[in-house]
Amino acid sequence: MSSTEVTIKRVYDFSEGGREMRDLLGGKGANVAEMTRLGLPVPKGFTITTEACIAYLKGGHAFPAGLEDEIATHLAALEEAAGKRLGDAEDPLLVSVRSGAKFSMPGMMDTVLNLGLNDASVEALAARTGNPRFAYDSYRRFIQMFGDVVSEVGKEHFENALSAVKAARGVAQDVELSADDLRELVGTFKDIYREHRGEDFPQEPRAQLHAAVRAVFESWDNRRARDYRRLNRIDHDLGTAVNVQQMVFGNTGATSGTGVAFTRSNVTGEKGEPFGDFLINAQGEDVVAGIRTPRPLVELKDEIPEAYAQLISTMDQLEHTYRNMQDVEFTIEDGALFMLQTRNGKRSAQAMVRIAVDLVAEGVLSEQDALVSLVDPDQVRQLLLPQLDLTRAPEPLARGVNASPGAAVGAVCFTADEAERLGKAGEDVILVRDETTPDDFHGMVEAQGILTARGGKTSHAAIVAVGMGTPAVCGVTAIRFHDDGSISIGGTSFREGDRMTIDGTTGTVFAGDAPLMPPDPHNPYLAQLLEWADRARTMEVRANADTPEDAERAREFGAQGIGLCRTEHMFQGDDRLPIVQEMIMAEDAGERVEFLAKLRVFQEGDFEGLFRAMAGLPVTIRLLDPPLHEFLPSLIELSERVAVARATGTPDPEAFAHIAAVQQLHEVNPMLGTRGCRLGIEWPDVYRMQVAAIMTAACTVKKETGEAPIVEIMIPLVAFDEELRIMRDEVVEMAETVLAEQGTTVEYAVGTMIELPRAALRAAQICHHADFFSFGTNDLTQTTLGFSRDDAENKFLVHYLQNNVITFNPFETIDQDGVGKLVAMAVADSRAETPGIKLGICGEHGGDPASIMFFHQVGLDYVSCSPFRVQTARIAAARAALGA
Ligand code: PEP
Ligand code: MG
Repeated sequence: MSSTEVTIKRVYDFSEGGREMRDLLGGKGANVAEMTRLGLPVPKGFTITTEACIAYLKGGHAFPAGLEDEIATHLAALEEAAGKRLGDAEDPLLVSVRSGAKFSMPGMMDTVLNLGLNDASVEALAARTGNPRFAYDSYRRFIQMFGDVVSEVGKEHFENALSAVKAARGVAQDVELSADDLRELVGTFKDIYREHRGEDFPQEPRAQLHAAVRAVFESWDNRRARDYRRLNRIDHDLGTAVNVQQMVFGNTGATSGTGVAFTRSNVTGEKGEPFGDFLINAQGEDVVAGIRTPRPLVELKDEIPEAYAQLISTMDQLEHTYRNMQDVEFTIEDGALFMLQTRNGKRSAQAMVRIAVDLVAEGVLSEQDALVSLVDPDQVRQLLLPQLDLTRAPEPLARGVNASPGAAVGAVCFTADEAERLGKAGEDVILVRDETTPDDFHGMVEAQGILTARGGKTSHAAIVAVGMGTPAVCGVTAIRFHDDGSISIGGTSFREGDRMTIDGTTGTVFAGDAPLMPPDPHNPYLAQLLEWADRARTMEVRANADTPEDAERAREFGAQGIGLCRTEHMFQGDDRLPIVQEMIMAEDAGERVEFLAKLRVFQEGDFEGLFRAMAGLPVTIRLLDPPLHEFLPSLIELSERVAVARATGTPDPEAFAHIAAVQQLHEVNPMLGTRGCRLGIEWPDVYRMQVAAIMTAACTVKKETGEAPIVEIMIPLVAFDEELRIMRDEVVEMAETVLAEQGTTVEYAVGTMIELPRAALRAAQICHHADFFSFGTNDLTQTTLGFSRDDAENKFLVHYLQNNVITFNPFETIDQDGVGKLVAMAVADSRAETPGIKLGICGEHGGDPASIMFFHQVGLDYVSCSPFRVQTARIAAARAALGA
């Protein structure tokens, strides 16, 4: 290193950090440092920073200059403090090496325990503890974990060897193996290692440590880590920290143990008996991996009472410090409690809303703080998950742990690959596994429900399912896996593809399709949060709705109006489509009049229904948008019929009659063809009919209720200000004609969608003809990116996401840097010209929390989204206003 280079500190002792240093130390490192600062019993250690990880990955997968020395210095300090040396043949220090990114990524990254053991130090450990069984158990675990995580020797090789020894000794549990059995197993494990790696298991402790650190760095880039980050929109450039910590042992005997606990229930949110799992005489991996079925935490009170009492008071202290529900890991070594980790606990949607409201009631934090730090608007949507109808449910086949709430019905799959395949093909899938591991993640993402035979609420399956909002039932010990590829539960057997229902709320499993109940959107804790959110937010939330039923639902969810009624949806339906088709295929405008008159009757009824449902609230109705041929029979089908008729001489007058019109209307690229106002300008009668129907319906409802509906008529796909000028004149002329005929007045606004780049660029001109703009970010995304959504999402977008060309789906979350720039520009330009212009957004991004944050920042007046997202949007808008 040259003398002018600034030295970057890449390793921090636990005593040097704190919870505010998550970026650099990762969540685990920052929290262990915080617990150290609080004076809690934390084994000593140090953290290698996330920056070191990025420097390693970007620097050709080599340790950055100086890192080895820095690790050596901190290791020396740790040895000094512990009074033991790594790998010492007399009194060895053992360490754990664990990853820890800024955001918790359960099971995504890797852990190595008992590092520092070798053929010499294992003897020393046995001698000093007087417990050779423990020493060899620790060594065989180390070889297994190191082999799996660092050297990619599949863990099944080790597990098979372990099972073989257990079978040979006729025992079921690992703890029943003797010291000699374990010593023998260590030999076998080392053979396995040599066989797969072509070299001996490394004996030099510093080489072990460097290899483990390297493996943690590498694991940041593995497939399941990338998948998880993509799903959770976590930046790929954050890197992971590495924590090196003195080992404490939960596997030294009957007054030792290990466990995980939540300060409140992660399923319901209630603060009752402490929630968690533990195992006596075990190491951490046993609980988290679900290898042995753990016991409920309350039973620890009778086993090791002092440690239990200390744990409970520590959890209380942590919850107050973090002002959030905590998920802790602890180990008890010979009666002494050690805290290994604390983090904000993952929780179900039900638990999330309850914990937020309860902590405010307990005076731990304010309403606003609760909205900002305890409420995830994406999770609010999970409250609308289907539940099992308990009043009609049959007897369950089996019960297990209610690991993640909600009910799911689907075809059973026994491998993650099959679940992924069927799920991607649009089938509902229940993934059934003995237990899940991070390697199953790609299948879990696609599954509607997850069922495992082993593991508790803190198993991999449970934690990942809760995080994704996927229903899960774990620890169903009645499941049997058979060699012929089937499973049985009780007396019922299932082959892949058979139907099954699981209920993650009650932890039950059913054969076939059990009755489900629609979700309850009136959760009282959610209602409280929504009340706080409505007080805090500045943007309105409307809904996209095309029918009175949708409008009513939207209103129930708190929508403050309809931001988009897509009138083309009213052209579908068996009673209407034939008339629409006749109208489109009519010879000329004269012939078309008759069909338009028939359609007007339907439309009037539709609009009346909408106006009644939304009385007192604005209703934005968009005139017909899609290309006309979308309503006609397929050209390919007609061409085939004509060809068949010609070839066989069988008459098909209908096909012959329609094909010319269909051919004439056919477009190569309809997304960019004759749609929206282009259609309105070429075929003015259609839009005139729609305006007449809207205004007549408004008059009817006004006469009926005494209150005029708040009407907003919206012109789609405008690119030129002249288009909107023409359309606006048409709309006003027709509206005034109807009002004059009806002898009444109804206020109405005329506006347009901004869904083409040119419209955004010319907003300052277009706004002169508009009372409002609504950003159509679906089309604006398609046309700005030049992506056809249907083609992109089925094809190259998946590849792009998998290969990190882009990190999010721009049809879900607004592309702030591109599309967002156009939106921001159009907002600024139109407001400069017409300060009072009303600005909203009605693309699907209107229900996406990250996008809502952006729309708040650019100053939109409202977002409009699907009725089911209205509650989410209300909370997201509040969080945006509170600067979350
Ligand atoms: C849009 O383009 O964003 C929009 C709301 O219109 P549609 O999705 O109907 O094209
Ligand atoms: Mg559109």
